Amino acid sequence: DVRVRFCPSPTGLPHVGMVRTALYNWAYARHTGGKLIFRVEDTDAARDSEQSYQQLVEALTWLRIDWDEGVEKGGPHGPYRQSERTAVYAEVLAKLIDAGLVYESFSTGEEIDARNDAAGRARQLGYDNFDRDLSDGQKAAFRAVGREPAYRVRVPDEDLTYVDLIRGEVTFPAGSFPDFVIVRAGGKALYPFTNPVDDALMGITHVIRGEDIMPSTARQLVLYDALIRAGVATFMPRFGHMPLVLGETGNKKLSKRDPQADLFLQREKGFIPEGLLNYLALLGWSIAADRDVFSLEEFTAAFDIADVNPNPARFDQKKAESINGDHIRMLAPDDFATRIVPYLQHAGIVGESPTAGQQALITAAAPLVQERVQLLGEVPGLLGFLFTDDIDYADDAMKTLPANAAEVLVAGVSALELVPESEFEAAVVQDALKTALVEELGLKPRVAYGPLRVALSGRRISPPLFESMELLGKAETLRRLGALVQ
Ligand code: GLU
Repeated sequence: DVRVRFCPSPTGLPHVGMVRTALYNWAYARHTGGKLIFRVEDTDAARDSEQSYQQLVEALTWLRIDWDEGVEKGGPHGPYRQSERTAVYAEVLAKLIDAGLVYESFSTGEEIDARNDAAGRARQLGYDNFDRDLSDGQKAAFRAVGREPAYRVRVPDEDLTYVDLIRGEVTFPAGSFPDFVIVRAGGKALYPFTNPVDDALMGITHVIRGEDIMPSTARQLVLYDALIRAGVATFMPRFGHMPLVLGETGNKKLSKRDPQADLFLQREKGFIPEGLLNYLALLGWSIAADRDVFSLEEFTAAFDIADVNPNPARFDQKKAESINGDHIRMLAPDDFATRIVPYLQHAGIVGESPTAGQQALITAAAPLVQERVQLLGEVPGLLGFLFTDDIDYADDAMKTLPANAAEVLVAGVSALELVPESEFEAAVVQDALKTALVEELGLKPRVAYGPLRVALSGRRISPPLFESMELLGKAETLRRLGALVQ
């Protein structure tokens, strides 16, 4: 059975790269009926934080990505925080030493440099495997002067080849790197050790992660091999490396600091989970050549790791927003009306608990904008005028007023005064205005309705005019048209 994992180091805010990794692992688990294990790689006390972990959980939960084993979920292979697995690493280290696959190394950086200099070997080649065959006497002598060993894995002198799930056959030539440290002097277990050890103990079958980690795969293959020989692991997992995500311009990786990479910022702008998830899924994969928009269910049904494209994917904010707009339009009207509430609250348009009147207005007004926005964050700007009687006239809107604006507004008022309050509905209002302004005064619709729109909303662009008048009611509509004349 497929067992995949998401194992971030919790630093900083949740970002696109991290979440795409989680998403592909999740989709593969759901596609195959396997399990997703969420492990926290928090071995760097200086950088990792509980807050980052909690924010990541929040982001994934928001996106509806779930997992089967993890810190709060529990599971048979815990603990799921590396900071709580120190005893596990010590035990595995002992087994590797017993099997002769890992050895004690006392060389300091200066000693290695000095030996390389003396041998005419470039310093950047690094460690020279000097401590491989120290005698017990030599080790005892180091200990006697208070030196503690680091632990290094013996790297076989042969090419390392594996078949990447996304990239096909990959070979790291023999001699690419020396015996490497897995546990530092003092006992700190390092990533090239803890990561494969946990993958082995957690029964991970497919390691799916970013291309940026590919260089460390060579060492992990060596270590995995040692784990198998020492009886800690029973099989070698498959590895697959997802393409880089590039920023909007140039050929640079999307940086964690790019605003587009910030999941919470994107949520604040008004992405809905369905839309953002759909877009993130496209960063390295596609459902069909001519299709960008799909549901979560369609995604997990279709996703296969073998179909991931190895070429870099470019983050495209415009495309992301347009896909989000498609998903917004697919929401049931009530659902949409519910989802815009936090954005109206955030903009100060309604309070923390909207009144019944405000709630009714939200429900009635929501359909006027659902078709028009790509981001929920656009809604307060479009609907705000319905919730206040203090209109703030935008400069760019005032500039669009024609010379005869006052005349148009006065004619509009006269026409609407004749519509009985009980019949003040969009279609009737539209009829009355069309007759008075377009037919009788002979105005072009743009000239006729532009000033009314500005009077009503203070904006050049607003939800449909006649529907807005209906929502505001006769008295308030007349008041606003009159107010701009003065
Ligand atoms: N903790 C590592 C990271 O976040 C995990 C990499 C991996 O998936 O092996 O970069």
